[in-house]
Amino acid sequence: MEKEFLEKVKETLEKEKEKIEKYLSQFAREISEDEWETIYPKSDGSSGSALAEMQADEIEEYLNLLSLEDVLETKLKNINLALKKIEEGTYGICENCKKEIEKDRLLLIPEARFCKKCKDFFKSK
Ligand SMILES: [Zn+2]
Repeated sequence: MEKEFLEKVKETLEKEKEKIEKYLSQFAREISEDEWETIYPKSDGSSGSALAEMQADEIEEYLNLLSLEDVLETKLKNINLALKKIEEGTYGICENCKKEIEKDRLLLIPEARFCKKCKDFFKSK
């Protein structure tokens, strides 16, 4: 990977990370570096009783936020992983086949962990 390309990817990843963290902080709280917990509507930590008092549409919204939080958290984890790989000089290598991930794929999904071939393979499973 050329330094120039890595710089560009790093910038994209850091911007994306900031965006996701900002978005997450609107309905979740950060437990540790990339662990988030949804707080809705007013969680005091004993979520069981809070859920029982919620209206059906509130519960639905809560569940939507939970899955959204899950998606964003996974993305955030992958971004942090990609940033770490840039530091270590292993960025852009497919975790499965150890070949270089296609550049056009990295431009589209800079936090990608697998090359196109492996990704398709996992998807079809
Ligand atoms: Zn691969």
